[in-house]
Amino acid sequence: MHTFEFIRPADHAVAIATAAQSKTAQQGADVRFLGGGTTLLDLMKLNVETPARVLDVNRLPLDKIETTSDGGLKIGAMVRNSDLANDAKVQKDYLVLSQAILQGASAQIRNMATVGGNLLQRTRCVYFRDTAMACNKREPGSGCPAITGHNRTLAILGASEHCIATNPSDMCVAMAALEATVHIQGTKGSRAVAFGDFHVLPGNTPHRETVLEAGDLITYVTLPAPIAGSKQGYLKLRDRASYEFALASAAVVLTISSGSISRARIALGGVGTKPWRSVEAEHALTGKPANDATFRQAADAALRGAKPQSENKFKIELAKRCLVHSLRMATAT
Ligand SMILES: Cc1cc2nc3c(=O)[nH]c(=O)nc-3n(C[C@H](O)[C@H](O)[C@H](O)COP(=O)(O)OP(=O)(O)OC[C@H]3O[C@@H](n4cnc5c(N)ncnc54)[C@H](O)[C@@H]3O)c2cc1C
Ligand code: SF4
Repeated sequence: MHTFEFIRPADHAVAIATAAQSKTAQQGADVRFLGGGTTLLDLMKLNVETPARVLDVNRLPLDKIETTSDGGLKIGAMVRNSDLANDAKVQKDYLVLSQAILQGASAQIRNMATVGGNLLQRTRCVYFRDTAMACNKREPGSGCPAITGHNRTLAILGASEHCIATNPSDMCVAMAALEATVHIQGTKGSRAVAFGDFHVLPGNTPHRETVLEAGDLITYVTLPAPIAGSKQGYLKLRDRASYEFALASAAVVLTISSGSISRARIALGGVGTKPWRSVEAEHALTGKPANDATFRQAADAALRGAKPQSENKFKIELAKRCLVHSLRMATAT
């Protein structure tokens, strides 16, 4: 691993001002915040990330889970994934989030990983993680060997001719379905970004993954007030039962009144270049009876725009079945 300066900023202002000296907050940043380190340190060992300065923000007071005045939840960026998943209010009112986090990584990693870091975890595309290979995300303009190479686990939604990498997060899929908001503090003050706008599609700039600019510190995430009686669930399909990333996953949040679906929020994981909210599936579900025929129509709608690569056509049917089954499970109780 290359050498770097390790800094523990005293407060937000120092952290933000120091990080703002970086040329970017995206791939190639020369200053990086450190959360749990489970993504950053891995990538530094591989020389995929080579920051000159690492700012340990673990001591900033961002580790609380609090109820907001409108009955929602405010989750500090330094809250550990385990603490969030096991929080009593999350388990009661935002079950989909607890389930998604608990199906990710391992207990040890979840104990270290933070909410802020999870929002920014990087793709597991093997070419991205190997500096001997070309990769547009790591080195803009160098090419995308995945398109003609190993792409079994990569994206079928939201890809471009420059990058087909999957966003690997489970937590983010649940946050997309819960319509979370990401709160950011930067050199120009604070701002709130709707979850669906936080990650960006690769287009012709795959090195750019989020709306973050140099100096931007994620401070917390908020969730809207829970909807009484909503039916929720997260289903993750993968090559082995634990310690593996999703090939396809689905987060569902439904409200059912008099046997029909009055509100649906649907997001897919493992198939998109960003956590994939499917408004197409939501429209197909709304106003319909909660039965298998409706669920299949929603799944067909969600995957209608899918563009498979040479090795991952199977993901289309897998993702459809994943969504159908998660809807079945959520509505069975
Ligand atoms: C073996 C293994 C298996 C895994 N399996 C899964 C899985 O199945 N599902 C899944 O979803 N995830 C999985 N993960 C990924 C894991 O969830 C992430 O590594 C973790 O969530 C990242 O959080 P962190 O706090 O450790 O991030 P860090 O590594 O500390 O940081 C990640 C990035 O976020 C930036 N950052 C951190 N905090 C902030 C902040 N407050 N503001 C701005 N930038 C910030 C850092 O600078 C860095 O660029 C796995 C990881 C490993 C190593
Ligand atoms: S899919 Fe994206 S991350 Fe993977 S090699 Fe291509 S450009 Fe790089």
